[in-house]
Amino acid sequence: MPSDKSTPAKKAAAKKAGAASKKASAKKAAAVKKAPAAKKVTVAPKKATARVKGTAPAKAVVHPPGDESRTALVRRARRINRELAEVYPYAHPELDFDNSFQLVVATVLSAQTTDLRVNQTTPALFAKYPTPEDLAAANPEEVEEILRPCGFFRAKTKSVIGLSKALVEDFGGEVPGWLEDLVKLPGVGRKTAFVVLGNAFGRPGITVDTHFQRLVRRWQWTGETDPDKIEAAIGALFPKSDWTDLSHHVIWHGRRICHARKPACGACPIAPLCPAFGEGETDPEKAKKLLKYEKGGFPGQRLRPPQAYLDAGGKPAPPLGAG
Ligand code: SF4
Repeated sequence: MPSDKSTPAKKAAAKKAGAASKKASAKKAAAVKKAPAAKKVTVAPKKATARVKGTAPAKAVVHPPGDESRTALVRRARRINRELAEVYPYAHPELDFDNSFQLVVATVLSAQTTDLRVNQTTPALFAKYPTPEDLAAANPEEVEEILRPCGFFRAKTKSVIGLSKALVEDFGGEVPGWLEDLVKLPGVGRKTAFVVLGNAFGRPGITVDTHFQRLVRRWQWTGETDPDKIEAAIGALFPKSDWTDLSHHVIWHGRRICHARKPACGACPIAPLCPAFGEGETDPEKAKKLLKYEKGGFPGQRLRPPQAYLDAGGKPAPPLGAG
């Protein structure tokens, strides 16, 4: 049984020794986790840093508002992404498509409207024009009639016929798998190109849509406002291999919980990590009513009851897997 007669000095020394030993064990554990081979202990962190640095042009990266250090920001951002991955394990593009041609067309059509509306429209479009050749030769007025429910149907008709012609004339009727080629297609910007690259070609990309812009601003991940600069700044916080899934997690969270006008803060699983907690409804029961359930629910979603996100004092409780 340990003696309780130690002097204060001894106690302090013992505490210090204990803390040092704990710190050393934690360091050792982290090193072992990152670099299984003993001689590579010092190499692993360098490798990780280089990977993050190499993912985006440095000059476009700005420090976010507030006094959070760069290291703390990277840790918090990655923890938010890990937490969202727990909540939305099956996050995926919500546009229906069977091939890369359908995906690029559907993504162009999704501007200024919902994915649901696009999914209700594209079956008729692809039934009538299944290939780029078919759509390139289509009568614009007939395409406009089909696309009318998507809004901006004249401009969108022009884009999808134009991009189909470009696919036929410049790419042999195939959707190209490279950013520089995709952005040459009519109606295709970097956002659409990254959706196609990430989901039809498995090439990592960050999709900076309206939800993504709003959420990264709320989380103070960046102070940038230009989509291309946001893309570069956020890309520098994560390994490239995380980019596509990160985009899905953020967009799903924006659609279901962190809405533009009424974010459901009281039912938000990442409330403890969010500097904007309180921007929306914090009462768990009221917040729960703000959650948006699309397509019949949250497939595979593991949301806890809203009150579980707040402690007894009404403050955000630690998130799932926090530690
Ligand atoms: S706490 Fe509120 S503002 Fe922050 S992510 Fe959650 S819903 Fe959005």
